Amino acid sequence: MSAEKKWVYMFEEGDATMRDLLGGKGAGLAEMANIGLPVPPGFIITTEACLAYYEAGEKFPPGMWEQTLSALKVVEERSGKRFGDSKDPLLLSVRSGSKFSMPGMMQTVLNLGLTDETIKGLIELTGNERFAYDAYRRLVQMFGHVVLEIEARRFESVLERVKEDKGYEVDTDLTTEDLRAITEEFKVIIEEEKGFAFPQDPYEQLRLATAAVFGSWNIKRAVDYREFHKIPHDLGTAANVVTMVFGNMGFDSGTGVAFTRDPATGEKELYGEYLLSAQGEDVVAGIRTPKPISQLKEEMPQIYAQFAEICERLERHYRDVQDVEFTVERGKLWMLQTRTGKRTARAAVKIAVDMVKEGIISKEEAVQRIEPSQIDLLLHPAFDDRAKLRALEDDRFLAKGLNASPGAAVGVAVFDADTAQEWGAAGRPVILVRPETNPDDVHGMLQAQGIFTQRGGATSHAAVVARGLGKPCVAGCEAISIDLEAKTFSVNEKVVREGDYISLDGGTGEVFMGQIARVEPKWEKEKELQTLLSWADKFRRLGVWANADYPRDAQRAREFGAEGIGLCRTEHMFFEEERRPIVVKMVLAEDEEERKALLDQLLPFQREDFEGLFEVMDGLPVIIRLIDPPMHEFLPPREELLEEVTRLRCTGQDPKRLAEKEKLLRVVESMWEVNPMLGLRGCRAGIMYPGLTEMQVRAILQAACRKAKEGIEVHPEVMIPLVGHVNELKVEREKLEKVAKDVMAEEGIEVDYKFGTMIEIPRAALTADEIAKYAEFFSFGTNDLTQMTYGVSRDDAEGKFLLQYVERGILPENPFQVLDREGVGQLMRVTVERGRSTRPDLEIGICGEHGGDPSSIEFCHQLGLNYVSCSPFRVPIARLAAARAALGEVERDK
Ligand code: PEP
Ligand code: MG
Repeated sequence: MSAEKKWVYMFEEGDATMRDLLGGKGAGLAEMANIGLPVPPGFIITTEACLAYYEAGEKFPPGMWEQTLSALKVVEERSGKRFGDSKDPLLLSVRSGSKFSMPGMMQTVLNLGLTDETIKGLIELTGNERFAYDAYRRLVQMFGHVVLEIEARRFESVLERVKEDKGYEVDTDLTTEDLRAITEEFKVIIEEEKGFAFPQDPYEQLRLATAAVFGSWNIKRAVDYREFHKIPHDLGTAANVVTMVFGNMGFDSGTGVAFTRDPATGEKELYGEYLLSAQGEDVVAGIRTPKPISQLKEEMPQIYAQFAEICERLERHYRDVQDVEFTVERGKLWMLQTRTGKRTARAAVKIAVDMVKEGIISKEEAVQRIEPSQIDLLLHPAFDDRAKLRALEDDRFLAKGLNASPGAAVGVAVFDADTAQEWGAAGRPVILVRPETNPDDVHGMLQAQGIFTQRGGATSHAAVVARGLGKPCVAGCEAISIDLEAKTFSVNEKVVREGDYISLDGGTGEVFMGQIARVEPKWEKEKELQTLLSWADKFRRLGVWANADYPRDAQRAREFGAEGIGLCRTEHMFFEEERRPIVVKMVLAEDEEERKALLDQLLPFQREDFEGLFEVMDGLPVIIRLIDPPMHEFLPPREELLEEVTRLRCTGQDPKRLAEKEKLLRVVESMWEVNPMLGLRGCRAGIMYPGLTEMQVRAILQAACRKAKEGIEVHPEVMIPLVGHVNELKVEREKLEKVAKDVMAEEGIEVDYKFGTMIEIPRAALTADEIAKYAEFFSFGTNDLTQMTYGVSRDDAEGKFLLQYVERGILPENPFQVLDREGVGQLMRVTVERGRSTRPDLEIGICGEHGGDPSSIEFCHQLGLNYVSCSPFRVPIARLAAARAALGEVERDK
């Protein structure tokens, strides 16, 4: 005969590694027993037994009950009490506990073993009749509800009735006689409901309670909880059978819960509460107000000292903060549970750093313990949890859009960029609400606290600019309708007018009416975070650069630890007030000479911009991308012109202006494209508009040479965008390299420069070996590369169907937020292989929005890129994510 399967483990037979088999609670109890902490004697019936129970049609598997009885014998020996003994009865609890904590979702039965017989022994032993009847009352009530599935109300209403009849306020007012009568009445309810009596055989109680705990794995709320938290349904729960200890045996007894460190701040001090003369459920139920754990020091100094020492030991043993439950029974401390303590993002960072300093964990572990998303929370203002809850309760929730840029913003709604600029500059907090934004809105965005759009996705203009500015943004909120004329937006019945306060949570995409209180972070004050990131820097292989257009953004990026600029989008320089009219004229120029003269006017502006960047980034590489957006974006919108021309024609008032506008309209119409994102943009504009990119390269090199002469170390890298065929790069590069050489000759100084390209078009990825012949660096523009690989419009798809795709599980993730490894990722892999086959030292990075996303960063690490580049505010996240990717690899290779 094969050896019988082991279904039952004494505490000392298990340990912390056995969570699958023993559940989290069981493994914790086992581990505590093993390291010699005071744990009441007990054993664990395994999760496998629970699964076998279900398999056999809700029957205990063969051998399980016999093993339970043997284990019970051992417990009797250890406790010196006997189960069912009328003189010195052993009482038990049966507690559920699965691999993953599911707080309050499954069942527990306490005080098992009490019967009409054994209660006598308990009274005798404790000399406390009231206590004994209260324990019995609780057992019959719990048994009736949890095990026999009688509605809880039936029992509660009896308690309420007695209290009301007698004029009592609280349960503790109930006398021994009351409790005895109530217990009897509970028994009658059971008979009435079930047709049999409350079992007077303690073993029958234990058998039924164990089955009920197994059964609670599949009660509705537990199933729902697992659905929500993505916990598998096939794990089962263990049943922990533990000797009862009582915290309600008078004022030398008590019970409490505590964290070994403050879970909100991470401060190294015990944090929790307790109640004297109470049972566990009293602390949780909030019937009596518990006292802070520090007070236990005065009330029970010896117990406190022992407890504090145990907490310290548990932390060192588990090498992490613990969340523990304890009970004191007549002056003796018992530990009932330990598990890893949940904590806020701030506490997580402080605890990890402190634990390294205390020699408990290594720097590698500290870095791996912090999720990059937690840092995000630390660097942006957040809504106060309670205030947000109140807003929900007050029905101030408006709608949910895309969480496009994290942080919490509060301000009054404005519907155009000019008002945003004006009110914002006057010190009024504003939130810019637009159907979508474009470069014309940037001046308003700069003054706004947050940006809220009805259309557009994670790489929409609003999202990209907001992330760059570190401002909260909720985008693509199609649930709202905006009336720009009336300056209102509405959702369901709620209407928000210009000047009304709204609050945006860019981290979740939620939008509320009115103001919600916030908590503000400060980078300079985040000393622990800075320490953690300095450790992360030692482990990572990927460089972390930033996307920054202005010197002030570059400055911030450097403070956050950026090691270069991976993308400076030069087009913003064309949109600024004093430059735009020159740009318009340049686009309209009828001959080369006129165009060149206008470009000459733009050159000093550009040079100045670049000088600022080189100065801030002294010693570090700066990638400047040549003009990229569709050229018509620099001209007034077609609809506006059409309207004005029609109006002028009808009134006939101003023929000169009409002629001017008609000419402009002709040009705009000639440039109009059905599909501008696939049109005259990127390097195509450079090729088709003579002198344009030459001017830009001249400005870049002049700025570099002049700054170099001042002693600044410059490393300009000129990036040619949207290349699809190698010849596009070849002709642009040859033309521009000549300009670079000319400028250096003119300036009389040589600087270290590079030419490279973006990989944004699948064809470029596939022909990377050819393209690398003319590029010293590649930068993945994964916004366009995703758009073109998936064949979905980055500006429209998220609002129209993409987010629904994600909700309905058609796509696992929004590919504009998290890099699509199978599709876009494959093109990237091919690019790296083929590019480096031509040029082994090819520098390769990423500057699409994915450069700041932790999962995408991990993939970039695996591909062997040189760096990731992201908005300045994501630089700290990227530093951590890059380190975690490197450490994860070490771990896997072990
Ligand atoms: C990209 O396409 O990924 C990119 C960085 O360029 P842009 O978003 O400016 O098109
Ligand atoms: Mg692009």
